Amino acid sequence: MSKKLFLSVIISCFLTACLLPAQDAKPEAKSDAKSVIAAVEKAMGATDLKSIQYSGVGSNANLGQGVNPTAPWPRFDVTSYTRTINYTDASSKEELTRIQGNNAVRGGGAPILGEQKQNLNVAANYAWNVAGPNQVAQFGATLEERRLQIWMTPHGFIKAAKLGNGCAINWECEAKVSKKTEAGKTVTVISVGFGKYPMEAYVDDKNMITKVEAKFANPVLGDMLISTTYSDYKDYGGVKFPTRITQTQGPYPTFDLMVKEVKPNAPAPLPVPDGVKTAEAPRNDVSVQLLSDGVWYLTGGTHHSLVVEFKDYMAIIEAPLSEERSEAVLAEAKRLVINKPVKYLINTHQHFDHSGGLRTYVAEGATIVTHPMNKAFYDQMFKMKPTIAPDRLAKTPKVPVILPVMDRYVLTDGAQKIEIYAMKDDNHNEGMLIAYIPAGKILVEADEYTPPPADAAPPITPPASSLNLYDNIQRLKLDVSKIAPLHGRLVSMADFYKFLGKEAPKPAENKKVSAAVTPSLTGH
Ligand SMILES: [Zn+2]
Repeated sequence: MSKKLFLSVIISCFLTACLLPAQDAKPEAKSDAKSVIAAVEKAMGATDLKSIQYSGVGSNANLGQGVNPTAPWPRFDVTSYTRTINYTDASSKEELTRIQGNNAVRGGGAPILGEQKQNLNVAANYAWNVAGPNQVAQFGATLEERRLQIWMTPHGFIKAAKLGNGCAINWECEAKVSKKTEAGKTVTVISVGFGKYPMEAYVDDKNMITKVEAKFANPVLGDMLISTTYSDYKDYGGVKFPTRITQTQGPYPTFDLMVKEVKPNAPAPLPVPDGVKTAEAPRNDVSVQLLSDGVWYLTGGTHHSLVVEFKDYMAIIEAPLSEERSEAVLAEAKRLVINKPVKYLINTHQHFDHSGGLRTYVAEGATIVTHPMNKAFYDQMFKMKPTIAPDRLAKTPKVPVILPVMDRYVLTDGAQKIEIYAMKDDNHNEGMLIAYIPAGKILVEADEYTPPPADAAPPITPPASSLNLYDNIQRLKLDVSKIAPLHGRLVSMADFYKFLGKEAPKPAENKKVSAAVTPSLTGH
């Protein structure tokens, strides 16, 4: 066997083993694969199925937004759900209404006040959300996942397998069939790729697809497993469709639907709005604002970072989103601070949108400053070797250094200083850190308070997380002049008071007023 062939066998075995236990994965001959796919297609009534619409009720959850690293994703009740898929033009429209219900008000996205509508669309190479009169184009992972989810539906999968034109990395383009033992039963497994993403369907003895699994690239979970189960099939005019659908992404549930109504071949036109066709994917722009000597606020996207210069090194606060964002922020940081290493990366909390860029800083050699509750999770995350979207750390592994901050930690060189504090009683994330830069009296926080536009009226009821931030500022006796939030815009402490519906203390009677205000807030 040539070295190259040997290597490709090793790689494909490794990838296959990610999804299938190797001991009982026995690929069948090509003709068998074709006949298995044909039998499933016939049994499920997929042959003449061009589109499908199904409706129901259930729940969904916010991936990567748990209240701590081992908590499930925050769950919400879905009171109405309709999905319309057109297999011929690879389009899907999901319309749903969700409410907080009796779900715990903990983690990112909670609480939902009243009803929240979601309207999520994809058609071939375009994805967009509808919010009131606005159509908001979606790109990157959102677009790719929506496309993948079409082919993860039972009928979508069998159509993809029949075409056999998906080519996941190192996978052959044609669908394969193997046998596998699950819960003591032999099941048939059909494997096919969709772009970079390997997919597998489990088929029962009635030729119904009971589960579809795929691997999808995630900056925090690496080659993340998406697993959808389909059960309690019923017949809808010759088309078999499950009446229960559940999905997990990573370790926890993201979706659960009790299907009430199914309409095979329902009309499913989904024209792409012109504005979506011409929308440009957001570039990783980084805007720079000097906040005080050696302190810069790096904005330009949805999530911000700060760069703080010390005598011999720099520290960066927050590595949000992805490696792409980290590289853009790093490039700007290196332009601002010449020839000094990034010694520390301060991570406010573990939610995926705030930790997705951390691996890049480990590769950069930075110490990751975070709450101790994240350590075990990050140890695993920094060990991962993602194969679907290999990043810098996968290519050049480094031993990570994590500096846990239980309560308070100060970075200083005698002149510049960052004080890092753990928040108390936080329901957004139990391991939340905030940073305070005494030189500019600047507070840095994520997700507790996202300032609305300057001309917006303050909320009728301030969010609990903002009130809790206020309590923590009081508890820590921080003399804050400006807040540099990691979402939104730079504001003054007076803006924060206004947002909370509070009277800002007048400088001369500062102590008196805060003493009068504090007791009424400590008990909530
Ligand atoms: Zn968060």
